[in-house]
Amino acid sequence: MKTSIIGYPRIGSLRELKFASEKYFRNEIAADALQKTAKKLRLENLTVQRESGLDFIPSNDFSFYDGMLDTAVLLNAVPDRYRNLDLSELDTYFAMARGYQGEKGDVKAFAMKKWFNTNYHYMVPEMDDHTEIKLTGSKPFALFTEAMENGIKTKPVLIGPYTFLKLAKYTGEKAAADFVFPIIAAYGEILKQLSGLGAEWVQLDEPCLVLDMTAEDKALFIQLYEKILAEKHGIKVLLQTYFGDVRDCYSELCTLDFDGIGLDFVEGKQSLTLVQQNGFPKEKALFAGVVNGKNIWRNHYSHTLLTISELQKHCGEIVLNTSCSLLHVPYTLKNETKLADSYQKHFAYAEEKLSELAELKRILASETHVETEEYQHNLYLFMEPRGGSNPEVQKKVAVLSEQDFVRLPVFAEREKIQKERFKLPILPTTTIGSFPQTAEVRANRAAFRKGEITETQYETYMKEKIAECVKLQETIGLDVLVHGEFERNDMVEYFGECLDGYLFTEKAWVQSYGTRCVKPPIVWGDISRAKSMTVKWSKYAQSLTDKPMKGMLTGPVTILNWSFPREDLSLKESAYQIALAIREEVLDLEANGIRIIQVDEAALREKLPLRKSDWKSDYLDWAIPAFRLVHSGVKPETQIHTHMCYSEFADIIKEIDDMDADVITFEASRSDLSILDVLKENHFRTEVGPGVYDIHSPRVPSKEEIKTALHKMLERIPVEKLWVNPDCGLKTRGNAETVPSLENLVNAVKEIRNENF
Ligand code: GLN
Ligand code: ZN
Repeated sequence: MKTSIIGYPRIGSLRELKFASEKYFRNEIAADALQKTAKKLRLENLTVQRESGLDFIPSNDFSFYDGMLDTAVLLNAVPDRYRNLDLSELDTYFAMARGYQGEKGDVKAFAMKKWFNTNYHYMVPEMDDHTEIKLTGSKPFALFTEAMENGIKTKPVLIGPYTFLKLAKYTGEKAAADFVFPIIAAYGEILKQLSGLGAEWVQLDEPCLVLDMTAEDKALFIQLYEKILAEKHGIKVLLQTYFGDVRDCYSELCTLDFDGIGLDFVEGKQSLTLVQQNGFPKEKALFAGVVNGKNIWRNHYSHTLLTISELQKHCGEIVLNTSCSLLHVPYTLKNETKLADSYQKHFAYAEEKLSELAELKRILASETHVETEEYQHNLYLFMEPRGGSNPEVQKKVAVLSEQDFVRLPVFAEREKIQKERFKLPILPTTTIGSFPQTAEVRANRAAFRKGEITETQYETYMKEKIAECVKLQETIGLDVLVHGEFERNDMVEYFGECLDGYLFTEKAWVQSYGTRCVKPPIVWGDISRAKSMTVKWSKYAQSLTDKPMKGMLTGPVTILNWSFPREDLSLKESAYQIALAIREEVLDLEANGIRIIQVDEAALREKLPLRKSDWKSDYLDWAIPAFRLVHSGVKPETQIHTHMCYSEFADIIKEIDDMDADVITFEASRSDLSILDVLKENHFRTEVGPGVYDIHSPRVPSKEEIKTALHKMLERIPVEKLWVNPDCGLKTRGNAETVPSLENLVNAVKEIRNENF
């Protein structure tokens, strides 16, 4: 049995590509130095893969920024506004990725979107009526040749034409259908050239096939591939899917003339059943995605062998594969010097997944595979207790009853009680939580972490910052204040560090977009609150003012979605454990005199399942209750806020209302405010603070602008339900723009309040 992977991380095991690219952006190194770093990283990847014994080694999985963007460039889909800058090829590419502002012009970047259900973001290709799709790029050929020169015949990987057309944005009159013939020709040319260079296989990634497909989608897919496969130029075509199953087009996949089909048996709920019920064409190779490309836990060999033996009943050649590209996991455990072996042995990052594939291959090749040492070793690993279990937490989750998820009294009654208690003016003003995090703030946190300053010194410094922040908000005239979140590096990492059951890594970076990487914490065991996490800071901040001080927490769904989750426990169960821990903090804050508590769910929408039919049963049915569990125990007069970093929740509007928060703030300034109509139509009950200005830009919004936004909002939202706040937290901004922006916000509100309400 051969082995394959879909793609490998490319940012560098120590983020070398990130640092080199950023130096290049700052003009500190030249293009050829950047190219040299990139080449070195590619060769390192090839070497690691070859040495592991991998049979199908991918090429063209490298990218300076993003694979969709690469495909756009390959296919000549470069809008005129970038061409007209008249920059070098590389700089045109980076202009599309990051925008360009300089002597040659001023253009915005391509839009960026989340890549399916991952935390990776892709650049959205733009097609206008002048776009002429044809093969103009050379990267797949150059990288294939580069690997050949190093003695490795690779399997070039490309985004397939269906996914490319489906994810592109059409800015003119033309739609996907108008580009079908040229894109068929371009892919034909790609196959021809790769074949000419000596490639045996090419992998075309079509993750869009795991989404719900309409009849029209299916027709487009068939139209594309019937033609492309009619002339393969002697190269074998692997159609690769991932992130789910292909239930809507399985029979078409089997009928079309692919030489290999890659299916995901980790996330594809129905993949195995599809093969069992419909069979699998014997003349095609099945690339069986059995090693999880998204999570960092070791593969459970006995489970994998079961799947494989089931597949063997139906298939001809089977190739062992990862479930998706390894782009979504960190490079190697070798860089985790601080993580004890008792933990490490349970993990497999990209490099270790290569070893797993090699081991599985050896096990399957041996006559008595269950007796092989590798199999036994793996079996033992999963049998031995690995610690991290907390019976008390498990019990708390087990005894949860319906009432634990219900806050009483009902919303309308609480609203009355709270209006009475807080006596806030109409259109109360507030912020989302964080205030500008200066280099000095970060340096102080780092110094404390490294033991360079004492805890007392650190606390004194933080208290000074909090006092400054409170004073500033009072001077500006905001109504509901925050402490500023200076103690936090990141809204998830901070809580992970305070919670029992979490593990932290040193170098487990995963690319989020372009040169940005994240280091998700790992849910290791049962989660509980070891100590109070925010009470000290909030209580101190409240002691400085008579105005209500918001307690500031991250919600369970967001904490979970931005971590590597457990595989031995359901997401629902993990979410409830985290929810119970955050609930304790909520009650602790309340007991310490905090009257308003905000629980951020910035990532709630992110992990909505890819298929709409799974939304409720697989996700919303536990995610929404997990949030409710956090706050259902507070007194009627305690006000619960939540915040979301987007306004695209029209399709889950009822569920958002069902979270039963008292107030929700969200990002609205960059959207067209159509969400307000949806709120109105649905009689949205929760009070709302749609962000009145965009904090992602250094621009200072004028008072007039904010008034205009508010007037629009007031046309759709009853005045007694409307809050006024920026879009999101201010931590990435400087004081220079934050202060005037908030002043304009408060002054705009003051003027509107005088307009006879
Ligand atoms: N309270 C957080 C902050 O203000 C929220 C961050 C976020 O929504 N991403 O920074
Ligand atoms: Zn936000």
